[in-house]
Amino acid sequence: MDSVSPKILDGKALAARIKEGLKKEVAQLTAEGLTPGLAVILVGEDPASQVYVRNKERACAELGINSWKHHLPADTSQEDLVQLVKRINADPEVHGILVQLPLPAQIKTEAVLDAIDPAKDVDGFHPVNLGLLAAGRPGIIPCTPAGVIELVKESGVEIAGKECVIVGRSNIVGKPLAFLFLQEHGTVTICHSRTRNLEEVCRRADILVVAAGRAGLVHGGMIKPGAVVIDVGINRTAEGRLTGDVDFASAVQQAGAITPVPGGVGPMTIAMLMKNTVTAARRTVQTLD
Ligand code: NDP
Repeated sequence: MDSVSPKILDGKALAARIKEGLKKEVAQLTAEGLTPGLAVILVGEDPASQVYVRNKERACAELGINSWKHHLPADTSQEDLVQLVKRINADPEVHGILVQLPLPAQIKTEAVLDAIDPAKDVDGFHPVNLGLLAAGRPGIIPCTPAGVIELVKESGVEIAGKECVIVGRSNIVGKPLAFLFLQEHGTVTICHSRTRNLEEVCRRADILVVAAGRAGLVHGGMIKPGAVVIDVGINRTAEGRLTGDVDFASAVQQAGAITPVPGGVGPMTIAMLMKNTVTAARRTVQTLD
């Protein structure tokens, strides 16, 4: 591949195409009497969380998906939040439930995620969905890893047989992504803060995904010429600018294809959330058939 002019993987454009398809699907479902619906729960006033929730509501409006926002005060108790989740679980108009993370310290995230009906868990964080993914069975796939796979496919590089290296082992990005790469027949390595020789392991990658939350952790010298580089990280510089985990200026010299931040994985995460909501709505009818 030409290492001088790498392909910029435009997540915004790809997300727009996916949403266009979903919009038609939602219109058709609505005509059949089934409007997909998403409930979003936000606890507290975290400014980044407020932006994410607003973007998700905006995407719902754009596609014709019903959305309901439940904005609770920062001192909400775990019990009250779990009760709200249970009430929404029982609401037939809601097909997807999303609890915006992080939650305030007095609330155990696991207790809340576990309370979501797995069929409505459009973030794919419930242990049932993560277990189904690990077992290679159909469930709901977490949005960010699903978006990463779409971006790799967009690069035109086939995953089967490739060295796929993921930096980060969280339950919401790194681990589920590893299972998706395995399903696509990639050879997978997961790195984390205790990994020795991170630079060397990254340099082996045909497909390198960085999800560590450390600005500029990966630079051009850690990238195999021609590799596909997907930057999941979202960090804010001292000047308030968004930046990824990859040092774009040096990485772009080496990569065969690379995502920008912003405009790479972020828009794809939202597109995949919309897709999961439409799928969850569709499955309610399929179950009744
Ligand atoms: P976590 O903090 O949960 O996990 C970070 C992972 O990176 C951990 O496994 C950690 O290792 C590893 N790590 C941290 N520092 C290093 C290092 N120096 N070398 C190697 N590994 C390291 O983060 P998330 O998975 O939730 O998110 C990762 C990033 O992606 C964040 O910037 C987040 O904002 C962004 N993000 C973006 C999304 C999007 O839509 N674009 C969606 C979700 C997240 P260890 O386990 O050993 O601590």
